[in-house]
Amino acid sequence: MSVLKVIKYGHPTLRKTAEPVKPEEIDKQFLQDMLETMEEEDGVGLAANQVDVAKQIITITDFEKTYILINPKITACSENMVTGKEGCLSLPGLEAQVPRSEKVIVSALDENGVPVEIIGRGLLAVVLQHEIDHLNGVMYIDRADPATLVWQDNEETSGLPATKNTTLDEVQTLYKSMFHKDMKTVIFDPVK
Ligand code: ZN
Repeated sequence: MSVLKVIKYGHPTLRKTAEPVKPEEIDKQFLQDMLETMEEEDGVGLAANQVDVAKQIITITDFEKTYILINPKITACSENMVTGKEGCLSLPGLEAQVPRSEKVIVSALDENGVPVEIIGRGLLAVVLQHEIDHLNGVMYIDRADPATLVWQDNEETSGLPATKNTTLDEVQTLYKSMFHKDMKTVIFDPVK
């Protein structure tokens, strides 16, 4: 098993639409690596795009159970919306308020290629929507109220600012200098 590198906002793969995975193509080693990466990074969810693999695979934990979902699709969602704080391993040090459906039903394949259906409420519903968004090249900042974008309580040594409101422009400038110095192509905006 190995911990994979999580790419950061600005990396073009985060804006790619992920490809579906055929059951016979399921790579169990990669799934284990995704789980290990999610755990190591203290995430509650990880999409394959975030480790630079544009395939429709997500891993999620709600602390009671861990899910590996392949080709996940939201088949139903509640009209009732809840707004809560979200962060993302690909947007280090940042959080914002994001409105989400309070309940979702997701169909997918499990790690053995067997069809499964998950009913998500509360945190699980939010994480499912957040991770499935990644597979479509969408990030939470696209859905967040920009006025709620804030640096978390970042440690001084992290190179990220301490708690204060911020803007996407500021985030992009900082990430460019911290994470993308040697990258030829940096894409921040959603691909239309
Ligand atoms: Zn994310």
